Amino acid sequence: MNNIDYAFDRQHLWHPYSSMSHPAPVFGIASASGATLVQENGKQLIDGTSSWWACIHGYQHPVIVDAMQQQLQRLSHVMFGGITHESAIELSRQLLALLPRSLTKVFLADSGSIAVEVALKMALQYWQGRNVPKKQKILTIRHGYHGDTFAAMSVCDPEEGMHTMFGDNVTPQLFAPAPKSRFGEPLCQSDIDGLQQVLEQHHQQIAALILEPVMQGAGAMWFYSADYLKLARQLCNKYQVLLIADEIATGFGRTGALFACDHAGISPDIMCVGKALTGGYISLAATVCNDEVAAGINQSPAGVFMHGPTFMANPLACSAARASLSLMASGKWHQQVRTIEAQMRQELAAAHSLPTVKDVRVLGAVGVLELHETVNTGVLQAEFVKRGVWVRPFSRFIYIMPPYIIAAEQLSQLTQAMIEVATLLPQIQQHSHQQTLSHG
Ligand SMILES: *Cc1c(COP(=O)(O)O)cnc(C)c1O
Repeated sequence: MNNIDYAFDRQHLWHPYSSMSHPAPVFGIASASGATLVQENGKQLIDGTSSWWACIHGYQHPVIVDAMQQQLQRLSHVMFGGITHESAIELSRQLLALLPRSLTKVFLADSGSIAVEVALKMALQYWQGRNVPKKQKILTIRHGYHGDTFAAMSVCDPEEGMHTMFGDNVTPQLFAPAPKSRFGEPLCQSDIDGLQQVLEQHHQQIAALILEPVMQGAGAMWFYSADYLKLARQLCNKYQVLLIADEIATGFGRTGALFACDHAGISPDIMCVGKALTGGYISLAATVCNDEVAAGINQSPAGVFMHGPTFMANPLACSAARASLSLMASGKWHQQVRTIEAQMRQELAAAHSLPTVKDVRVLGAVGVLELHETVNTGVLQAEFVKRGVWVRPFSRFIYIMPPYIIAAEQLSQLTQAMIEVATLLPQIQQHSHQQTLSHG
């Protein structure tokens, strides 16, 4: 059995969005394999999160583990300035083969937020190079999420995001209304007008439109009409605005298409990928642009693209990504995602009739119960752990995005737990409220 010093953790370790004076409970994990996390007390949890969209092929996949072990023995890291290596070259070759053909130039970054920073810098440098220096603003749609660094924060939802907390340090950007038309449905007029109007009015200042194609993840858990993406592509062409697709959560099959842009058949000028790029084994992201963007950057006053992280194109991370992409190339993901989608549609349908549930939606390997009220993440998480599953609700959403290799019985356990917790929600929240009162 593994020894986890929870007291040390509470005293000294930040967790995502955590408090050091009132740390939320954490669960010690000792190991994981397939779609199962093993707690340090030996109990198993079926993983409904893929560790935040990343671990698509499951934990301890032999192909990825072997690739990393072999790479580790040859070259774990070397700087990328003035040096290159097979790992970066072959990964980029594999990645470009999957992407829309117009995307040709790869920047290997170390995390999703950095890939977004890189994309925004590319867009700004591009317009300098094209001699339109007034194009300095970024347009995005409301309810988006693009990461936690400063430029990424500036294009997150201005109300649910962190704009107010950091005030003037967050660059003001432009926001169009979030698309209301649902995935699979045609576009409503107000969605068309919303985007058209901002572009019409401000295009002379707008360098790029950044959005999460088809699925708004951490900001909204919302699936919108692919026609909106088509419209965005058309309007960006019309108004001379670059289109940046943030596929960090949607990429690599999660929404049922290899990339969410494929649902609309469009090519962005710049695309960001991350999370599942390495199969979730180690941090790596990429920002990929077309020839036109690269050419514009070359003509900017700097003459070069101004970014270069220490761990750029880390060989170990690239080897994990190569292995993960080779698993994608087998094409199995397609059937796996479709099977997960069909099963979730069937099993989550029962939630439609629950008084706590406002909406049920499923797209690809993502299943969402939207509730009427905001949940207490810590309390609900503990309820899921009691039921042997790992689900981390936030805001008004109980949602899952399991590894593609999950077995049908495991997925059923996840959906059953979701429905049970949504059913018992009033008692669960009431009980936790009473506990808070009595414990002060
Ligand atoms: C998670 C996410 C990011 C940020 O990626 P990190 O690796 O956490 O920095 C950016 N955009 C989207 C759409 C994401 O889901």
